[in-house]
Amino acid sequence: MAGRNDILLEMGLAPVWRLRVVRDGDIGIAATEPEHPRVAEPGSRAARIAALEWRDFAADVDACTACGLHRGRKKSVPGVGDPNADWLFVGEGPGAEEDTRGEPFVGQAGKLLDSMLAALGLARGANVYIANAVKCRPPGNRAPESVEAAACRPYLDRQIELLRPRVIVALGKSAATTLLDVDATIGSLRGRVHRYGGVPLIVTYHPAYLLRNLPDKAKAWEDLLLARRTLAATIGGAAERAKSSPPV
Ligand code: URA
Ligand code: SF4
Repeated sequence: MAGRNDILLEMGLAPVWRLRVVRDGDIGIAATEPEHPRVAEPGSRAARIAALEWRDFAADVDACTACGLHRGRKKSVPGVGDPNADWLFVGEGPGAEEDTRGEPFVGQAGKLLDSMLAALGLARGANVYIANAVKCRPPGNRAPESVEAAACRPYLDRQIELLRPRVIVALGKSAATTLLDVDATIGSLRGRVHRYGGVPLIVTYHPAYLLRNLPDKAKAWEDLLLARRTLAATIGGAAERAKSSPPV
C-alpha cells in the first residue's frame, strides 16, 4: 500500500512540507522556499502595502493611482469573503458589473464561479475569499497588461499574507502568471500543485472561458478536486504532525 509520503509525492506536495511554529493558535505549514515571494524595499509603496491591515485595505486600494487602470474605474474591487478562509480564488480583474458594484465575480462568470463553489460544498463568504489579480477594471474587458498586474501585485501579496489560505485556486492565465511569476499557458500549468510561498496553488480555467468552452468544464472540475484533495492532505498532515510533536 502506498504510504502517505508516496501519496504526497504523487500529488506534487512532498518533500517540501515541514512544521512551522504555531501562530495565533493555528498549526501552520511552510515550504522550504522563501516564506514570501517578494521582499519590499523599506519606505517603498510595496512596503507600505505589505504592512496594511484589513481595516485600511479597501480604502487604500480605492485611493490607488499606481497604474493607468485607475483612470477608468467606477469602483475599485479589492476582494470579498471570509478573512479566515481556507480557500482563496483569484480571478483576472473586474468586469463591467464588478466595476459598478465594487464586488468581484458578480456577473455571468461569477454565477458560474458560484456554481463551482457550490459543487465543492462551498459558498461565497463562508471559508472562501475571492480576489482578482488587478483591482480596477481593464477597459473593454481586456486582460491586464503585465505592468498593471505588477503594479497591483503588492495588494494581492498582502491579501494572501493576511488571509493565510490553505489553498489558492488561480482562475485563468492572468492570475496564474501573476502569482507564479511565469509566462505559460493554462494547459501547461494545470493538473499539478504549484506553490505561492508556502501555500499550495492550483491553476484552472477562468469561468468566463468555461462559459465559451463548455467541454473544458470537466477539466476544471478535475482541477477543483485536486485543490480539495490538496487542502485535505494539508490539514491532515498538519494534524498528524501536531499529534506526533512532543509537547512544549
Ligand atoms: N472576471 C474576473 O476575473 N474577475 C471578476 O471579478 C469578474 C470577472
Ligand atoms: Fe492601483 Fe491596482 Fe487599481 Fe492599478 S489596478 S490603480 S495598481 S489598485
